[in-house]
Amino acid sequence: MYTYDTLLAKVTAAGGPAREVTDPATGQPIGSAPVHTLADLDSAVARAVDARPAWVAQSDDERRQTLLALADAVEESAEALALVLSREQGKPLNGPNARFEVGACASWLRANAALDLPSETVLDDESGHAELHYRPVGTVGVITPWNWPMMIAIWQIAPSLRMGNTVVAKPSEHTTLSGLALAAVLNDVLPAGVLEVVTGAGDIGDALVRRPEIGKVMFTGSTATGSKIIAASADNITRLTLELGGNDAGIVLPDVDPTAIAEDLFWGAFINTGQTCAALKRLYVHDDVYDDVVTALAELASRMPMGVGTEEASVLGPLQNKMQFDVVDALVEEAKARGARVVLGGDPDRDRPGYFYPTTLVADIDDDAELVQREQFGPALPIVRFSDVDGMVAAANRAEVGLGASVWSADRAAAIAVATRLEAGTVWINSHGGVHPFVPFGGAKQSGYGLEFGVEGLKSVAVPQVISG
Ligand code: ADP
Repeated sequence: MYTYDTLLAKVTAAGGPAREVTDPATGQPIGSAPVHTLADLDSAVARAVDARPAWVAQSDDERRQTLLALADAVEESAEALALVLSREQGKPLNGPNARFEVGACASWLRANAALDLPSETVLDDESGHAELHYRPVGTVGVITPWNWPMMIAIWQIAPSLRMGNTVVAKPSEHTTLSGLALAAVLNDVLPAGVLEVVTGAGDIGDALVRRPEIGKVMFTGSTATGSKIIAASADNITRLTLELGGNDAGIVLPDVDPTAIAEDLFWGAFINTGQTCAALKRLYVHDDVYDDVVTALAELASRMPMGVGTEEASVLGPLQNKMQFDVVDALVEEAKARGARVVLGGDPDRDRPGYFYPTTLVADIDDDAELVQREQFGPALPIVRFSDVDGMVAAANRAEVGLGASVWSADRAAAIAVATRLEAGTVWINSHGGVHPFVPFGGAKQSGYGLEFGVEGLKSVAVPQVISG
């Protein structure tokens, strides 16, 4: 079991190239993260390859037990993990944030232990006999972003290990300590080499994708980087699962109770201070309830405390980095310049330390505004008025991405009728963004391809093999 201090000491750079890590809420240094070289990548991949035979030789039940032991280890050091995460990523300990994220890591490990992907007999008659088996890929490359650095890593590591693969993970350069801290806890349980971590930026990620020993890459990040990874995968026909950007629409039909849905709308959009791939990023509200929804949302949002992550009262935090602060700031300024109405926020205190952007609601905004058309990935929600369902569906489907969407209505059948017309990998009814380890998750259009979670997630880190005859 680790404390914050022992865990931080374990992952702090010990000589060699390093990068200072600062708390995005205060600007204060919290530690220094190692920066690995291409030679470090080579040795990590070599260790992961060497670890394969013993790992694959374990029975399915042994690996299942190991995943359960990993979940216990995460829980024993949960508070230390949450503190590293909060201080480096910025997210508060409370609310659906750091403690929630660490808890989700343990749940995902247990769920992957519970799942089963048995072989199937696909033909058994006078014409022959054929069985479909799922073999490990070998070594899986896991490349993760900075918004949910522990949970997304576990989403990819847990099924990979369960299926008998070893893993080389590369955390985001913005949340290196979080990635290393999680791996340190897991590696107290795992045999050496089964989970390796290399740190660094896009050049290390690119080199990892190009290594011939890496049979599969699980990637979560931007669509632009996803395109580069597709190109890099071509030489070795490296298999890919890509969970890329989104610009999820939420659609509120005229029969809702605005006060009753306000809290779920709020968290759908503002979870992790808006820095979530499948968050609600553009809200379309029917004219009949538009003013009431805006008022209910503003009333609720104005009461949600934003502050330094380690303060127990905070449920919203800073943006993780300056780049993202600037994106949100520019999009809100563009909306203001076009005459949209800022109902809440929109005016950051530029003298305050840290990358705090206030909770912002922008109403009476037209669909062409950049805040609607581009992914803001921060706490600024545009609310577009609609009266014509066909026009609204067309507007929602205008995006080149299609990760998630939601429809809000008292009439489930009416909501589903709209849902089926939306071009998105998941459409939630009366909620937005909830994921479950047994429910497949993946994007449509430029939000990527391949499915994570559930049995489909196990298949994504396996190679099908037919035994025929
Ligand atoms: P975000 O800014 O949302 O984190 P990115 O797509 O830039 O999205 O980064 C996600 C992850 O991809 C990070 O770990 C980053 O270092 C890595 N990465 C960036 N460029 C490349 C690349 N060309 N090849 C592989 N990985 C990359």
